[in-house]
Amino acid sequence: MTEPHDPAAALAAVRSEIAAACREASRPLDGVTLLAVSKTHGADAIGKVIAAGQRVFAENRVQEAQAKWPPLRERHAGLALHLVGALQSNKAREAVALFDAIHALDRDSLCAALAREIERSGRAPQLFVQVNTGAEPQKGGVLPEAADGFIAAARSGYGLAVSGLMCIPPAHEAPAPHFALAAKIAARNGLALLSMGMSADFGVAIRFGATHVRVGTAIFGARPAPGRPPLSAGS
Ligand SMILES: *Cc1c(COP(=O)(O)O)cnc(C)c1O
Repeated sequence: MTEPHDPAAALAAVRSEIAAACREASRPLDGVTLLAVSKTHGADAIGKVIAAGQRVFAENRVQEAQAKWPPLRERHAGLALHLVGALQSNKAREAVALFDAIHALDRDSLCAALAREIERSGRAPQLFVQVNTGAEPQKGGVLPEAADGFIAAARSGYGLAVSGLMCIPPAHEAPAPHFALAAKIAARNGLALLSMGMSADFGVAIRFGATHVRVGTAIFGARPAPGRPPLSAGS
């Protein structure tokens, strides 16, 4: 029989794994920010993770985040919210209003839309350029060989302050070479932040310099199968 999932215990386990990975890599613990990826999960589950001390969360869809987060933010001070999924240019306004960081900057039209919205609103979320390290056709992100040019254009063409890179290694490959490639591209472009590592590989990502790990399943438990409505979190 499976125990009911305990997000607070799961969060503590993830935190101690992060601490161990930092020790092994001789990196300071405060150099790694844990993003609790709460997509598909409801306010009850998220509330338990907030109660356990987590303050930085991530969602992958603007509309879902818009529905879930304003009430949570009213109830809990000091929360930060990152967007880790693809962003359509026509949602730039909502995204800039709602998120403290955007992790999937990958095309000129989005640079233009974000630059306009940042200028208009006076809000400036942290920006990560997504690099498609595995050159997978179904994935967003700029190709590794196009990354330097894209970063330069985002900065000088659109006046965007790019803070870091984000990558999602191919599902069935060893992640280390992908993390190493992202770290190399970040270093040569003077980018301090690296968003990489998920439930299965955040320890490896920390070894390769991740400053932001995006962890969903290991904290919240399994997500409902795609196409089915999220379970209402019955406590
Ligand atoms: C869902 C998601 C995650 C979290 O994945 P887990 O395997 O559940 O930890 C991380 N990054 C992105 C971009 C995601 O969409």
